[in-house]
Amino acid sequence: MSATIIDGKAIAARIRGEIALSVAELAAQHNLRPGLATVLVGDNPASHTYVKNKRKACAEVGIESFGYELPATTTQDELQALVRELNARPDVHGILVQLPLPPHIDEAAILSTVELDKDVDGFHPINIGRLAMKGRKPLFVPATPTGVLRLLDEMQMPISGANAVVLGRSNIVGMPTALLLIGRDATVTVCHSRTRDLPDVVRRADILVAAVGRAQMVKANWIKPGAVIIDVGTNSIPDPASKKGTRLVGDVDFEAAKEVAGAITPVPGGVGPMTICMLLENTLKAARMRLDTTVQQEK
Ligand code: NDP
Repeated sequence: MSATIIDGKAIAARIRGEIALSVAELAAQHNLRPGLATVLVGDNPASHTYVKNKRKACAEVGIESFGYELPATTTQDELQALVRELNARPDVHGILVQLPLPPHIDEAAILSTVELDKDVDGFHPINIGRLAMKGRKPLFVPATPTGVLRLLDEMQMPISGANAVVLGRSNIVGMPTALLLIGRDATVTVCHSRTRDLPDVVRRADILVAAVGRAQMVKANWIKPGAVIIDVGTNSIPDPASKKGTRLVGDVDFEAAKEVAGAITPVPGGVGPMTICMLLENTLKAARMRLDTTVQQEK
């Protein structure tokens, strides 16, 4: 039997509608418009597209975005000074520094400069540290991993006690996704480029999250029948039949895998739309937190 296709695009559209309503409510009741600053350094074309899409999504739900595009020659001090300036601005509730930064910039130092309560990307070491600790709550969780969990919840996939396998251990996807799954009481195995017998490990997964960046690497015969598969990978492959000559595919061999899995996300149209949506949600949360602090201070 063919798997249920998890329609991330439709789920994200519904959530964006809910965010737009909340943004309108904040404006009407408190005269407050959430604001997101996007900081882009250099001319990586993919980063430009990501930031453009994020700003467009902000506009669609009524979140204000403030774009900063800096040359690749920007120094550490200049970038740090900009982040501090944004930290101090009351109309900026969230700060997003698009990664990767040019190699001469100390990324960890920049991410640590973002105020915790404006860290809508959830990349501040304190937020990540809290995610890893029992009984602590980060103010913000990175967008893609949050989107992955939201899709599992939308599918009403029982997470507690499930065997979850996460392919990839990056700071922005694999590791925080694994931490979220552990926090929800899954038994989690994290795989990476040195993992031995990968197909056998994957075969134990009730939940598989693939975040590797290798086109169609996960084959149908690696998949446990009925497993839920969340494919984060976005890989461009040649496709003479398409106008552009390329098309996007995930890390999972979708066409074959959907005949074995219980549910699976497509690429595109699965995790991608959820990522931007979760960033919008974090920005809304940041604005609400500011409002609560202001109300407390006025009391
Ligand atoms: P990284 O390159 O930072 O991490 C890739 C991970 O995969 C590493 O942990 C690496 O292992 C592991 N890996 C690489 N090759 C293999 C292999 N052959 N077998 C097992 N593990 C392997 O990538 P990201 O985490 O940033 O992104 C992963 C994918 O997700 C990419 O395709 C990216 O485009 C996509 N993505 C999609 C988003 C969305 O919104 N849809 C958002 C962010 C990313 P090791 O640590 O040993 O090097």
